[in-house]
Amino acid sequence: MKAYGIETLAGAIMPGGTVSTASTPLSNNSLAFSRAAAELGQNAFLGSRVLALTRSNATVDMVVLTPTGAQRIRAKKLLVTVPPTMDNVGQWDLTYSEAALFSQFTYSAAYTGIITDPGLNITTNLLNYGTATPFQLPPAFGPQGFEAIPFKDYITMQTGLAVPLPEAVVKQQALTALQRTRHLSPAVGVNASSPGSGPTFKAFKSHTPYALSVSTDAIRRRFYDDLYALQGQKSTFWAGAAWHTHISSSLWRWEEQYVLPPLLAAL
Ligand SMILES: Cc1cc2nc3c(=O)[nH]c(=O)nc-3n(C[C@H](O)[C@H](O)[C@H](O)COP(=O)(O)OP(=O)(O)OC[C@H]3O[C@@H](n4cnc5c(N)ncnc54)[C@H](O)[C@@H]3O)c2cc1C
Repeated sequence: MKAYGIETLAGAIMPGGTVSTASTPLSNNSLAFSRAAAELGQNAFLGSRVLALTRSNATVDMVVLTPTGAQRIRAKKLLVTVPPTMDNVGQWDLTYSEAALFSQFTYSAAYTGIITDPGLNITTNLLNYGTATPFQLPPAFGPQGFEAIPFKDYITMQTGLAVPLPEAVVKQQALTALQRTRHLSPAVGVNASSPGSGPTFKAFKSHTPYALSVSTDAIRRRFYDDLYALQGQKSTFWAGAAWHTHISSSLWRWEEQYVLPPLLAAL
């Protein structure tokens, strides 16, 4: 319920319901990000990381390492959207409360990729189901599924894992699973012109750490009340899925309603 929201779930389970997806008129969701980057111009430091951070209740002082060298930034307020694991933010000037909360987060691993396989002719999406597992849940290790997209016969793949695995292992699992579909699924045709071709990766990306969560005991001890109490402390506001949910539209709405107004009011 929390992850997908009532609208999405109702669409999925109600008779006649549909699950709607959001896109741009040009079917290019990354436009939102390239246009935001254009708006920020030289004030956006891509491919950079925070080297040092000093915050007080009045100012923020940081040094970031950019591809062209170190850059000092002084600001009134800081909005953090990186997943707040200790690996990501442990080197910052964390308060005792911040460190005590962030160190409780555990997370899972998520990977995406684009595959080509001239020997395959996939006409539908392939979802990984377990034949001998409760509720036909897919086996714990392996890709969740493959989707044929109408662009250069590319096939996209997603893998979600409880713990991160080396990139080479994740890729090999996906390629092996796709090879197996040649023999298992009637929705997969083999191109007679290149039957022996195998799948290869055109792109691969890790989205780990994904789905930060804490134990049920921590939630009972009101972890999220303590987490939300950090908002605004030491001139810092926090946003991102760890604070709300892993659905972009819900997340953007929550940030617009609950994070940006107090941040702007504090400037
Ligand atoms: C495979 C996949 C499919 C998904 N499908 C959907 C979908 O169909 N619909 C939907 O609504 N949601 C979907 N989601 C979920 C959605 O993408 C996430 O919920 C959303 O992106 C979370 O936003 P975020 O800002 O918290 O994190 P992210 O979008 O992951 O952004 C975090 C950013 O922080 C950066 N970062 C991390 N550490 C550091 C550091 N130390 N220094 C600097 N930068 C750092 C990362 O590079 C990244 O750019 C999907 C996610 C995945 C992985």
